[in-house]
Amino acid sequence: MQVGGNDMPIEFVQKPRIRNTYLRFRDCTLVVVARNRKSMQKALDRHRNWIAKHYKQVRESVRLFDSNAIFYNSARHAVKYEPSGSRPRSEISEGVITVHARSPEAANRHILRRMIAETQSMAGEMAYRKAEAIGKKPRSVRARRYRKWGACKSDGSITINFCISMLPSDLQDYTVSHEVAHLAEMNHSRSFWDVVGMLCPDYKALRKRLAAYDNKWREVIPAVNPAKSSDSGNSGTETQNTQELLPFQHL
Ligand SMILES: [Zn+2]
Repeated sequence: MQVGGNDMPIEFVQKPRIRNTYLRFRDCTLVVVARNRKSMQKALDRHRNWIAKHYKQVRESVRLFDSNAIFYNSARHAVKYEPSGSRPRSEISEGVITVHARSPEAANRHILRRMIAETQSMAGEMAYRKAEAIGKKPRSVRARRYRKWGACKSDGSITINFCISMLPSDLQDYTVSHEVAHLAEMNHSRSFWDVVGMLCPDYKALRKRLAAYDNKWREVIPAVNPAKSSDSGNSGTETQNTQELLPFQHL
């Protein structure tokens, strides 16, 4: 269904015995519980404005990170900065990432490195396993900062955007499946999507959901590198006695 220029995914749950029709959003998918398709259509027409308003809200509320927190393994984690003279390190426990580092900038770099390394091992493991299922083997799998969710070159090397570590796990699965499928089909033809479907049966809905996160990671990219940020000359930040860290935003 087209809403505000976007193709909104709909999940129809048929319950032949119910009288009313129910509408709710799960992520960016509109879930409609109705007696039959006719009742669903009626509800979609009648509540068009409500749907448009809420769809806009849920799309805007999908975030990869916010102030003083990052999404890690799909869950929001508060980030705490602890000044420390030794090598940067971090611990993760119950929704908090504590980073020990010389400066907030060093802490930010450490988080970035850690997320890239962990995404690489997670995506790598998943990609090799999925590739084996279709009789292929990637030449390499790398996670890094990237302008797209992922890519697969004709030599079989796969690149994955480290920001997938912030996505719900089913969307990570789709992203990796997509790139692995390119090992079999170097295009977006019907047979390519057939391969994706073998690796990730729910890919159609996931692909639409992933679109809601597009551009979200773009906000992350320029800020992770304070050297390139416009006000990076602000030397006062190093000595700022901040206990909280704004991950991926300029400090
Ligand atoms: Zn592709």
